[in-house]
Amino acid sequence: MLKLEDLSVAVNDRPILHDVNLHIKPGEVHVLFGPNGTGKSTLIGAIMGFARYTIIAGRIYFKGQDITNLPVDERARLGLGIMIQRPPTLRGLTVREMVQICGNNQVDVDKLAGKTNMCTFLARGVNEGFSGGELKRSELLQLLAQQPDLVMLDEPESGVDIENIVVVGQAANSILERDLRKNGQTIKKYRTERQKSGLIITHTGHILDYVPADMAHVMYQGTVACSGNPMEMLSCIQEKGYEECVNCAV
Ligand code: ADP
Ligand code: MG
Repeated sequence: MLKLEDLSVAVNDRPILHDVNLHIKPGEVHVLFGPNGTGKSTLIGAIMGFARYTIIAGRIYFKGQDITNLPVDERARLGLGIMIQRPPTLRGLTVREMVQICGNNQVDVDKLAGKTNMCTFLARGVNEGFSGGELKRSELLQLLAQQPDLVMLDEPESGVDIENIVVVGQAANSILERDLRKNGQTIKKYRTERQKSGLIITHTGHILDYVPADMAHVMYQGTVACSGNPMEMLSCIQEKGYEECVNCAV
């Protein structure tokens, strides 16, 4: 689904990422841990193709296609979706209109808004005066409409209150097809049946309660320093911190 080969990225002529290698297969969800300022948001922004990130070396492949130089809108049409950390306010465009655009006018906006606790926000300007948690739900609502094949989430649980953590977790779960609901009961979907893939940045790991991950990576000083089992790595980081985690990889 996604393959990064020796990817190096600069922002404003300042190198931030170097030699990042990552391979996410169809149906897999990977989590990305790492201290603040290490380049996690830069990585998913570069994969999405935001103009501020300059690829200085390496390649990005999505569904087998080299997308390293494709503009952001073409990447979105190919099936890449992103929830960014601080989405901008779009005055003059309502949430309802935005969700219709994301869903190509073929979605039931009210139903999707119900899933994300956003029914009372549909007539408001996109992200206009939204709290931290509301911004996350607004982003997820747009992704539910877009139905990307690879979704990248930047700290989906940060700033979200306890009640809405469940909403955010279930929405992410739904976007990523991690579970199927049948007769009101959740049944696990087998890995081979899943097609949607994810790359989720998290500090706390709370999202893992809702979206089981297949693989975890620690980003440290601008590169992927080690990879492994998500729950084992999370408990190791919580116990020993990132420096120790990286030492263990050496
Ligand atoms: P993380 O998401 O891991 O916390 P970021 O990817 O947001 O880290 O940032 C990585 C580094 O890039 C940080 O040191 C940050 O200050 C720097 N950076 C981000 N944007 C810019 C910019 N526009 N100009 C210069 N440096 C930037
Ligand atoms: Mg970040």
